[in-house]
Amino acid sequence: MARTDNDTWDLASSVGATATAVATSRAIASEGPEALLNDPWAAPLVRAVGIDTFVKLLEGEIGDTDDPLLTRRAMKEQITVRTRFFDDFFVEAAEAGVRQVVILASGLDTRAYRLPWRAGTVVYEIDQPDVIEFKTRTLADLGAEPAAKRRTVAIDLRDDWPSALKATGFDAQQATAWIAEGLLVYLPPEAQDRLFDDISALSAPGSRIATEHMDMRNIPSDWAEKLTERSRRIGSNINLAELFYTGERNSAAEYLTGLGWRVTVRNTEQAYAAHGFVVPDDELAAFGNASGYLSAVLR
Ligand code: SAM
Repeated sequence: MARTDNDTWDLASSVGATATAVATSRAIASEGPEALLNDPWAAPLVRAVGIDTFVKLLEGEIGDTDDPLLTRRAMKEQITVRTRFFDDFFVEAAEAGVRQVVILASGLDTRAYRLPWRAGTVVYEIDQPDVIEFKTRTLADLGAEPAAKRRTVAIDLRDDWPSALKATGFDAQQATAWIAEGLLVYLPPEAQDRLFDDISALSAPGSRIATEHMDMRNIPSDWAEKLTERSRRIGSNINLAELFYTGERNSAAEYLTGLGWRVTVRNTEQAYAAHGFVVPDDELAAFGNASGYLSAVLR
């Protein structure tokens, strides 16, 4: 179903299912003696959501492909590069003294439970109500305990989330570390700009942000269709072409720079190389080379 301005979802439908897809990759990368990640909650969360394809992928029953983007190894490396970028960002923010954290579009992100937060850190998670409720309940049932003070904000990021965040105790006078992982492409272009405007208005000096950087000038217009077609090969029935807002949008790096943030971009190749990996030799992986990950600091 095509996107609408007020669409909603849970973790098994629409945009919500993409959070389960990403958690499946984290679960796969966390398994075995040579695990690249350590997210012990990813697999039980994916099983609890219960999407057949993702449970079968987890079990290794499907997904045996020679598609260079989608071999088990390629999936593990891709999610490791992404997860570690945002993990390291938070670790560095903590070292710099930041004790207030906001995870935008938190999905099945378990960082509040698994990162070594410093004493006194408050982690806010924002996502749609059904997503927040499911993860909170399931992790509690599994006996998982947050490693920081965790506060949830169940709201759509196209709505007035800054008021909801402040109502939960967020302190705009304190430096904050924000992440928006796997979010931007699911927001209409103007909502992305508004998101960065709102984040900037809530950010005291010394605040930091990390997100993906997409250089749309180097991305073919049919990339979402191609990605959808390719992921069908491992049994996924998520239609990314229907869920993404493709086409023109401001570059996150340029927009944040304009708002006074000091931005650093690590392109995909550099991000892979940081872990000793090489970007797969593949059309869809290659267009990402002008893209990558960005982090920024507000002076
Ligand atoms: N950040 C998580 C991760 O990397 O594992 C989840 C990424 S998942 C690809 C996209 C997430 O964005 C979903 O959890 C979805 O609910 C959330 N999302 C997308 N648009 C949103 C919106 N308008 N309001 C709230 N959450 C949104």
